[in-house]
Amino acid sequence: EDDDIEDDEEEITSTTNKVADIKIDLPEDSREHVNLVFLGHVDAGKSTLSGSIMVLTGQVDSHTLAKYEREAKENHRESWIFAYIMDTNEEERTKGKTVEVGRAHFETEKKRFTILDAPGHRLYVPNMIVGAAQADVGILVVSSKKGEFEAGVDGGQTVEHARLAKMIGLKQLVIFVNKMDEPSVQWSKERYDEIVEKLSVHLKKCGWNLKKDVQFIPGSGYGTLNVKDPLKPGVCSWYNGPSLIGTLDNLPPIERNIEGALRIPITTSYKDRGIVNVIGKVESGTISVGQSIHIMPGKYKVDVVSLTGDICSFKTARPGENITIALKGIEDDVIRPGSILAEINRPVPVVSEIEAIVYILDLPEERKLFSPDFTSIFHAHTAVEDVRVKSLIATIDMKTNEEKKQKPTFCKVGDAVKCRLILGRPVCLEEFSVNPQLSRFTLRDSTKTIAFGKVVNIGKKAREAI
Ligand code: GDP
Repeated sequence: EDDDIEDDEEEITSTTNKVADIKIDLPEDSREHVNLVFLGHVDAGKSTLSGSIMVLTGQVDSHTLAKYEREAKENHRESWIFAYIMDTNEEERTKGKTVEVGRAHFETEKKRFTILDAPGHRLYVPNMIVGAAQADVGILVVSSKKGEFEAGVDGGQTVEHARLAKMIGLKQLVIFVNKMDEPSVQWSKERYDEIVEKLSVHLKKCGWNLKKDVQFIPGSGYGTLNVKDPLKPGVCSWYNGPSLIGTLDNLPPIERNIEGALRIPITTSYKDRGIVNVIGKVESGTISVGQSIHIMPGKYKVDVVSLTGDICSFKTARPGENITIALKGIEDDVIRPGSILAEINRPVPVVSEIEAIVYILDLPEERKLFSPDFTSIFHAHTAVEDVRVKSLIATIDMKTNEEKKQKPTFCKVGDAVKCRLILGRPVCLEEFSVNPQLSRFTLRDSTKTIAFGKVVNIGKKAREAI
């Protein structure tokens, strides 16, 4: 009988009932969770490769695949079947929800993966930074086709993405040398070696440690060759390394800040049957069902009702998990871009003036100098704010990190500079030495990435306030 239920138990049941309806109660899964982002020049084959991964790892069943094949044929997109899957899934996934960053997931023997900012998404290029900011591992897809590799490297996005990936803090880069099945390539060892050699030079310049953090794999996303199963004899005589998925499965565990204060930048929020759900990656610390936490800025106190990953539920979620969190005690209109879930006892600083080191990548045609009063848009985790340069403190030697010229009057593309920045509204930020993931940012205008930076000093007042 109902009367038998203890009071406090009943209270919990009645508030979680609605959630129980919509959340499938999934078992916990202890496999490591890794966040992936696909990078690379347009037409390198990112959509195709991610679609083929979805099919090969069983995320698309044969019935659905047949339906997609039929539809792709009707739309004269047969050769785009895998890319088509990503496009279509994207639309279906977002139906009824405000998902701004497309996501997909798959799993291997030892790991669970979330594909952030799944390619095929219309706003892929501008959003790449949001996706990459949360990613642990980048898959840089390069086309080996004659002319295409060259276009991607000379002025294309291949090197720019590799550089951004390093700056944003990705731990590992897996380079998939794609389209090896092309008639102009035919699994040529010479072509593959040429690509590895040329890219290696660029990657080194971007700061990548080639021995430790970079791996190259030849393959074909479209032909599903060396994607999941290792290459069959006769396809390619000179490669006997692991496949792409084999490589991902065996990546060294990502170092996580489990002891740190809880920080979850919110990428998306939506209301489902009266319950506010937010999606985000645990950047540091842990979060548990039943815990009270703050939404910052604003210090809104909320209780955690449930934690759900792509394929499992959690009582406690650790850093690296990308989860949907059902919250009790708020309306969704208190959440805005840049909102963070933070521990109550170890609050996140909310600051409007910072000292930062900024690397200038590109400047708008009409504003070729980076100097005081330069304005742009500041993107950190999910925050977007207007920003103005207050003063330049010193130029920085990128190799030694030492200060060179004090108080320069302006800086140019290629320079690194320590400077003070003023934000339009306060943003949740931490110093690089405390939490790199909450210190990294990019400066953009409407079309391009102007600079990349990290917060080095939030000021004594802000430190003491927390
Ligand atoms: P994205 O812009 O990087 O997402 O590239 P897409 O996945 O849309 O692919 C661009 C083009 O390259 C399409 O015409 C694909 O069919 C083709 N393509 C992709 N992967 C391969 C491959 O492994 N081999 C060959 N020959 N073509 C491919």
